[in-house]
Formats: sequence, C-alpha cells, structure tokens
Amino acid sequence: MSATAGRNVECPVRWCDETGTHAVHRRYVASVKGGERGAGLVGINIAQRVQPRASVGVELTVTTPWASTAGYLFAAASVPEIAAALTDAAERATELGGTSP
Ligand SMILES: [Zn+2]
Repeated sequence: MSATAGRNVECPVRWCDETGTHAVHRRYVASVKGGERGAGLVGINIAQRVQPRASVGVELTVTTPWASTAGYLFAAASVPEIAAALTDAAERATELGGTSP
C-alpha cells in the first residue's frame, strides 16, 4: 500500500478495528464513564503492539477533557486478578461512602 492510500485501508489483522497506519492493533470492547460525577471515559480494548512476536493483551485507556489520553497494556493473564482486586476495592469503597452505580 502507498502512504497516500493507507489512511482508510483496513488492517490485515482480522480482529483489529484500526485503519490506516497504526502502532497498536486494537479492538474496542467497552467505554465506561468512570470518573467522579461521570467525568472521563475509561476504554477497554484488546490490543497488540505492531511488532514481531508481540502478545495480545488488554488495554485500558483513560480519557479526560483536561489531559491527554493515558493508556496501559496489561498481559491478558494478569487481568482476572486485576479485575477481582478492582471489584474488591470498589465494594470496600462503597461501604466507606462511595457512590453506588
Ligand atoms: Zn491493526
């Protein structure tokens, strides 16, 4: 593909939602209003860096109106433990006076 034709070309990786030139293959899974009073968006994606032998992981992104989007790529195997810890922490935070969904 030429550089001029690359912008809207579908990625050859079948599960990837990105088009054109990208450094990370990415499938968007969920977007959640995660912050206090609905501020900010937390994105959950399946992601893989475009490099040889990169593994497919889970990416968490945080987008707010006041800062550039931050992201982190988790190893897929570590995500259940992180999810369980998040749920545990959220239950305790709710008991301590956090907001219920
Ligand atoms: Zn891709």
